Amino acid sequence: MTKVKIATDWLAGCAGCHMSLLDIDERIVNLLESVEITSSPITDLKHPPKDGVTVGILEGAICNTHNIEVAKMMRERCQILIALGDCATFGNVPAMRNFAGTEEALKRAYLDTESVVGGLIPDSPELGKPLDMVTGIDKVVNVDLFIPGCPPSADAIFFALSELLAGRMPAFPPQYFKYD
Ligand code: SF4
Repeated sequence: MTKVKIATDWLAGCAGCHMSLLDIDERIVNLLESVEITSSPITDLKHPPKDGVTVGILEGAICNTHNIEVAKMMRERCQILIALGDCATFGNVPAMRNFAGTEEALKRAYLDTESVVGGLIPDSPELGKPLDMVTGIDKVVNVDLFIPGCPPSADAIFFALSELLAGRMPAFPPQYFKYD
């Protein structure tokens, strides 16, 4: 049986959405019978393959130019793009820096924090340039499916992947988005 290829990556996030993906627990064994995870931040291969995947999953917000490159590469190489979690959906925690402004936030984090002595704001081509505004990923690429939550529940992620594997675009029942 040909397996459905899935690639994941993360942008400006905390890895919590990927941890929730792993929280699918033993159901992941069944999933892997029909799915091949080609690349992810927690596997050896980091970039989606050039010949493409069916589903691309992105965690995290768009904070810098490197995030834009990663998001665009995933968009170019996947048929269905999922924004996984609140950061990817609307910016969430990383977007809190929008209230202070990027320069002020960098200064506070790397120069003015009480524990810092002789601080330096990181500046490397590998990091990309910080953007003036942090946004969800739909500001730079088209998104086919949003799975909100911080992080989304493992059940919501499993439901979404199961529906896509069945050839349906997921329509989430409300219980997946109850947080009380
Ligand atoms: S949505 Fe929440 S759990 Fe996911 S990357 Fe953002 S802060 Fe972390």
